[in-house]
Amino acid sequence: MDGLMMHRPLLQSGLLDYAAEAWPGAEIVSRRVEGDLHRQGWAETRARAVQLSLALEDLGIAPGDRVATLAWNGHRHLEIYHAVPAMGAVCHTINPRLSAEQMIFVAHHAGDRLLFTDLTFVPLLEKLHDRLPDMRYVILTDRAHMPDTGLQALCYEDLLEGRATDRAWPEFPETTASGLCYTSGTTGDPKGVLYSHRSNMLHALATAAVLGPDLGPQPRILPVVPLFHVNAWGLPFTAPLVGASLVMPGPALDGASLWDLCQAEAVQSAWGVPTIWQGLMAEIQSRGAKPDALRHIVVGGSAMPRSLTEAFEKMGVDVNHAWGMTETSPLGSQGSLTPQERDRPFAERMALKQGQGRRVFGVEMKIVDDAGRRQPHDGQAMGELFVRGNTVAAGYHDNPDATARAVDAEGWFGTGDIASIRPDGFLTLRDRAKDLIKSGGEWISSIDVENLALTHPDVAQCAVIALPHPKWDERPLLVVKPRGDARPGLEDVCAVLRPHLASWQLPDDIVFVDEMPMTATGKISKLTLRQRFADHVLPDLR
Ligand code: AMP
Repeated sequence: MDGLMMHRPLLQSGLLDYAAEAWPGAEIVSRRVEGDLHRQGWAETRARAVQLSLALEDLGIAPGDRVATLAWNGHRHLEIYHAVPAMGAVCHTINPRLSAEQMIFVAHHAGDRLLFTDLTFVPLLEKLHDRLPDMRYVILTDRAHMPDTGLQALCYEDLLEGRATDRAWPEFPETTASGLCYTSGTTGDPKGVLYSHRSNMLHALATAAVLGPDLGPQPRILPVVPLFHVNAWGLPFTAPLVGASLVMPGPALDGASLWDLCQAEAVQSAWGVPTIWQGLMAEIQSRGAKPDALRHIVVGGSAMPRSLTEAFEKMGVDVNHAWGMTETSPLGSQGSLTPQERDRPFAERMALKQGQGRRVFGVEMKIVDDAGRRQPHDGQAMGELFVRGNTVAAGYHDNPDATARAVDAEGWFGTGDIASIRPDGFLTLRDRAKDLIKSGGEWISSIDVENLALTHPDVAQCAVIALPHPKWDERPLLVVKPRGDARPGLEDVCAVLRPHLASWQLPDDIVFVDEMPMTATGKISKLTLRQRFADHVLPDLR
């Protein structure tokens, strides 16, 4: 027997409609690339998203088309985030930290027809333009700041000017694609995660349910996490739901700029990767005070060092250590504590916060051994973490091979993370099975670096391993078994890597071994190498 309740599709356009009506006091504050600080409410954000959608229709953008962005966090980017899905098209956020090759790849693979860009990236796009011959560009600025460029780009504010500010959004099935975000593979090309209206709405509801109480009513939130990293962890969709104000930092992500913005805008909650909090903490220590209103941070993307958590907590800032992936929208687990846990002694609370918290509703978790057997959730047994749920990718966009590798026979998604789960539900990440290094929240594929390094004539065998780094979390070390007596220098090897990689993806140091340690299955044992070079000090830390 069916229930007798209305069925309305879970469409993202409903979020903007709701916030515009229900939260007139909340605002979007943006530090813009042009240098000024801009303010608008959710109602104006909706009005401008309507204008943008009408302009996009005039430009021929139709439901299902992919529209790309290459931009920092700011109100115009947020308007695109809402306008594009509201009309049934797909918002593809391109990560500006990808190498040029990868950027070209993702734009072609996604089939992007139009690209919105901040002024910052115009020189880069001028260089890439020959390889994106069919792309049209819109620059996120006003007429006065339009650059002199050969890109034949349109001006964002001109596009909006004079258009109607209200419309009824179209209706379509909630399973329609709404956003596209590429993530690094262990090797080869980036893989596209294609979110739907339904998955983003359910993610926003689940996030609001678990984080809402800690955020408090109508919080002022600083998304340092970029809109090109898994939808800024869903904040564009969670914020209108809970009536939050968003304080958008633009390109200025250093400790001093973030401190000033937090202070000036009375930011209560800030979200970002550990590297960001390292920078903010250094600034707090040099000024001798935290920004007054700051009382909550959400951290994920890499493990938060315990010392950093403790430093924030001692200042009265509640650190929520979360875990997630591009493929999980991203929130999979989060670390808000129960009242009983909050009452425990400081050291016990900090020990809890070293873990990645409890799963959020809708994301089921299992850990399995190498043979795929489920391991107990006893806090001891470790295994690869698999997840399942409405906010988890069922596969990769137009990539059946990567999809087949990612999903197991029972339909669970393999995360490549090695974890244990305690009987009280706490998840702890213990290791990483995937051959990737995470530096400052961005991935480096060790296999890609190795394959390129092997093209150097003096490199017989090589392996790239992650070394811990206080600022970047991890940095790559290149371990080489040379051919004969040769000892190629780091610069020499980097010369063959540089044309294919972004500069921050190059190894920080090179070391030599006579023999590579091997595993029983004949692979280079990175575990052995990690242990052997655990005390190696990278050049910038000497
Ligand atoms: P991404 O898809 O770029 O967001 O990366 C997701 C991956 O980042 C996860 O599979 C983990 O390897 C890593 N990660 C995310 N959050 C954490 C965390 N809190 N602690 C340790 N690693 C994390």
